[in-house]
Amino acid sequence: MKKAIIILLLFFTLPVIGGSNNPGEGGGSKKAKYVFFFIGDGMGIQQVSLTENYLAEQNGVNGRELLNFSKFPVTGLVSTYSENADITCSAAAGTAMSTGSKTNNGMLAMDTDTNRLTSIAYKIHNSGIPVGIVSTVTLDHATPAAFYANFPDRRGYYEIALQLPESGFEFFGGGGFVNPKGKEKDKADIYSLMEEKGYTVVRGLNNLTAGKVSGKLALFQESGKEGDLPYAIDRRNDDLTLKDMLKAAIDHLYGKNGFFIMAEGGKIDWAAHNNDTKTTMLEIIDFADAIEIAYQFYLEHPDETLIIVTSDHDTGGLGLGRKGAGSNFKLKELDVQVKSFAADSTSEEAIESLNRAAGLGWTTNGHTASDVIIYSTGAGSYRFSGKMDNTDIPRRILEAMKIKF
Ligand SMILES: [Zn+2]
Repeated sequence: MKKAIIILLLFFTLPVIGGSNNPGEGGGSKKAKYVFFFIGDGMGIQQVSLTENYLAEQNGVNGRELLNFSKFPVTGLVSTYSENADITCSAAAGTAMSTGSKTNNGMLAMDTDTNRLTSIAYKIHNSGIPVGIVSTVTLDHATPAAFYANFPDRRGYYEIALQLPESGFEFFGGGGFVNPKGKEKDKADIYSLMEEKGYTVVRGLNNLTAGKVSGKLALFQESGKEGDLPYAIDRRNDDLTLKDMLKAAIDHLYGKNGFFIMAEGGKIDWAAHNNDTKTTMLEIIDFADAIEIAYQFYLEHPDETLIIVTSDHDTGGLGLGRKGAGSNFKLKELDVQVKSFAADSTSEEAIESLNRAAGLGWTTNGHTASDVIIYSTGAGSYRFSGKMDNTDIPRRILEAMKIKF
């Protein structure tokens, strides 16, 4: 009798072990300690698919060769419309993904009445977790800015940049700033303001080899190279890449508290605005190269790492086919192109004739309203499955990190 009571007591007092086991969560329901949030700016599903056709064709096989993130176990579809438009811009979409709120096109982390919204990067940072923001374009551009700044107009580059040193985020990497000294070049230099706020500003990867920087770190291209990083198709050997910056971010942020890194492939969008097919595909492959660094990290920390890859919107409305072009692409036709096309009218016909020859067509030089795909793997990734809105993403990231939204 006594024995039965003790067993009964034990049964009721044993702690609940393990919790739920969700598929795709990489070994139980641990919280996501290391989080990578990749945003391919303007990266539509058609561009990803075509890039996979291109990779297959390069290797002499028919069909598709999947990019690393296409193999992630969890996928979902994301609607991207903004508060005032069917077709979003990067500022409104960045705001949706950083704050969980819709706003009007052009506005950064502010609601339509210009009340400030709070980016999850700050919520994460306030929980004691280091934050890194990385982009191939300038850091005052809409997508990275949505994670650290609030401003009613995305074109207020200097006012946006002024908010970066104030963020206190532990790592920044990117193509510098549009106007580091303001439009008239008469204002305080952003790089100096960063140093005043305790950032070690490093220009060029070669200058980062001196060992681990303690405190806050910002990595830019070497002196003399300003603005966005070159397209992959135009790159010279010593140019800084998204992959380099991601490696540096992980090295700098890795520690017992985990980290949150937002990394943007910012020029997929630019190439797609130009309807420049080959440059777009090579940007996507380059984006996947950076994601590979995160994936290798995930393999070492599978229970505690979450990788999310998505896009803010589709750009260009690429059609995988063309009137009268038959049932096979002719992507070999794109081999003649060895550098990116500029967005000028002289290259427009050259671009169009290559697309025609390849059997492809683009419908716009702007963005489209197509849903984008969200790919994920690791701790809490099951949350990113199925159909969702872009405003759902930041909430689910914080759920996975067990931080209050
Ligand atoms: Zn765009």
